Amino acid sequence: MTISVKISAAALLLGSSLFVSVSAQAAGALTVYCGVQEEWCQAMAVSFQRTTGIQVALTRKSAGETLAQVRAESNNPKADIWWGGPGDPQLQASEEGLLQAYESPMLKELHPWAVSQFKQSKGKSVGIYAGALGFIYNVDELKKRNIAAPKCWSDLLRPEFKAEVQAANPNSSGTAYTTLATLVQLFGEDDGFSYMKKLHPQMNQYTKSGIAPANAAARGETLVGIIFIHDGVTQKINGFPVDVATPCEGTGYEIGSMSIINGAKNLDSAKKWYDWALTPAAQEIAGQNKSYQVPSNKKSPIPPEAPRLSDIRLIDYNFQKYGTADERKRLLTRWDNEIRAASN
Ligand code: PLP
Repeated sequence: MTISVKISAAALLLGSSLFVSVSAQAAGALTVYCGVQEEWCQAMAVSFQRTTGIQVALTRKSAGETLAQVRAESNNPKADIWWGGPGDPQLQASEEGLLQAYESPMLKELHPWAVSQFKQSKGKSVGIYAGALGFIYNVDELKKRNIAAPKCWSDLLRPEFKAEVQAANPNSSGTAYTTLATLVQLFGEDDGFSYMKKLHPQMNQYTKSGIAPANAAARGETLVGIIFIHDGVTQKINGFPVDVATPCEGTGYEIGSMSIINGAKNLDSAKKWYDWALTPAAQEIAGQNKSYQVPSNKKSPIPPEAPRLSDIRLIDYNFQKYGTADERKRLLTRWDNEIRAASN
């Protein structure tokens, strides 16, 4: 879906009602491919426009889909900025020459993990937030069925979770690729794939987007979802009967990232977005829209609701290796052949 957000002067005064024109890409507008929740994407576009006067045409897509689209458009790029979603697909895009290097003056204000994404991508991507992978589960449904909440990856294999787990497809979803790479790093590649094979009968669906399992768990359509836990916190705060957990064996995490598309037609505006998106003022828009990641600017306050990475047993996720084009393609092909094929 492409949405161009325009703010009328009256709306600015009222501070609320917005004129949103669907699929009208405003001439000269900055085009942003946004990888997080729609509400946060929209709030970023509105705030940027209010701050700079630059119009924003915004499309929300999952990370793997954005990579495919940027690649398909590489001869005539339509987007200027890729903002949000796990960093591994951006590392692959950087390697494929789809992104443009930019050294923002804001870099010095960022946490080392955000700068590490910048260095690994040779200056073509940067960290904007971080968040850990884990489970969301429906507390009411578990109670009704007298099932103990999952605490470990191994718990998902319990008989009572047969066809009760949901996760996304790693080809389209950045969340699900992080899961795939996490299991391979945590258990070793062959044992990781054995685990995913055993997990397959427990799955009720591989969704396109990484947030979908959180929505499904909130509504009791699945008992458990494998997600970035900040997406589960959002559902909890929205009043759904859910809770989140991070696996006892250890878990992976994402460096949510941003980049400028190679050949961007609105380069000056793209740089303005890039610098602005790294400011505390822009990063606070996340918490204001119920997105509870850890922001990358050291001065940005961490929303009190955000799961603290220091409280979680994190693996030493090898972004360099699992973000390379060859490794991503190889693992995704193996997943298609050995896991996805089992559902046909
Ligand atoms: N939405 C939010 C809030 C996220 O933090 C992330 C990951 O960065 C995603 C969505 C990723 O979406 P997908 O797994 O569909 O690529």
